Amino acid sequence: MPHAAMLDHLEHVARLTHGRDRDVLDATLADVVLATLQARAVVLWEVLPGDEGELLDVRAHARADALPAPMSAAGGSAPAWPRLSERPELVQVLHAEVTTVIGDGRGTRILVPLRTETQRRLVLDVALAGPADAQARRVAEGMGRIYVNVINLLDASERDTLTGLLNRKSFDDTFYKATRSSHEAAAEAQRRVDSGAHHWLGVIDVDHFKSVNDRFGHLIGDEVLLLMARLLRSTFRHDDRLYRFGGEEFVALVRADDAVAAAAAFERLRTAVEGHSFPQVGRVTVSIGYTAVRPFDTPADAFERADRAVYQAKAQGRNRVVCFESDVAPQAGQPLQHAGGDVDLF
Ligand code: GH3
Ligand code: MG
Ligand code: MG
Repeated sequence: MPHAAMLDHLEHVARLTHGRDRDVLDATLADVVLATLQARAVVLWEVLPGDEGELLDVRAHARADALPAPMSAAGGSAPAWPRLSERPELVQVLHAEVTTVIGDGRGTRILVPLRTETQRRLVLDVALAGPADAQARRVAEGMGRIYVNVINLLDASERDTLTGLLNRKSFDDTFYKATRSSHEAAAEAQRRVDSGAHHWLGVIDVDHFKSVNDRFGHLIGDEVLLLMARLLRSTFRHDDRLYRFGGEEFVALVRADDAVAAAAAFERLRTAVEGHSFPQVGRVTVSIGYTAVRPFDTPADAFERADRAVYQAKAQGRNRVVCFESDVAPQAGQPLQHAGGDVDLF
């Protein structure tokens, strides 16, 4: 390889392994592959579950011409995600799990299937103006592997090893990232009287978990936590953020259009746990407290409100869902009363 080209490659690899922001990393992969292979266009697709079959999300894209991208995952309105089944070439590549080169009328496409350790499935889709030689294919593959390695390292540092859920350390960053758009929406609709909350934060604490450990041992206890994580995943949407905060405490940052939908989601989790038969242990219940995420909320403040709601759920007998706004401090905007106290008007 000529010296200059190799230095360019090194520079690109350095860019690809720099930084901790996933969106930036995705965009960098597309840019770097576009530049290295002098491609027409690069798309990084991700397969997402949908109610009626799998969908394709565009994680990143880059084009040699200045035309706008055909679609974007960002933006206020619902993105037009194509169904995976509408792209048979991607179905084929994901199924075979090998890099494939196909002709597309205007040139060739190199399709590199990528799979992370957390079982995310992506395809690096590189459109070239001319034919794709073996070297171009290996470059695309190599860049894809470096990208997956970085993603795996990021995942490992942000996730709880037992359940694979996000860990407490990643809470602040992911909280701001998830709620930033709702902050913007809330700022626009500042005068709206009703709660414009789109995100809700729930704290889920297993009831009498110490007794599960005491009666069945720590290993069975861990198994309960694993199953609990699975119930959380199946109850909430794929883009809701789920955490294990240590011990037997879980946190869910959930998107819901209104208070009724949020209440229904947390209640669904409570009943799913209550109705689940845990091997050996049998019935386990959870107490849940949740709160609406406010404009310009800090993660610590939102957590504190949800935690107070859990405390109330425990005090009221456990296996219940308590909402901070309607059950703990019903007069939003008023100074909080002491529990059980009357409102002091004068
Ligand atoms: P409450 O209904 O009031 O929440 O009671 P509790 O027993 O669930 O709450 P407490 O906070 O008293 O006890 C939590 C227990 O969780 C204590 C500890 O033995 C257990 N625990 C913490 N981390 C782990 C873990 O990683 N694995 C297992 N198996 N148990 C854990
Ligand atoms: Mg507990
Ligand atoms: Mg606890």
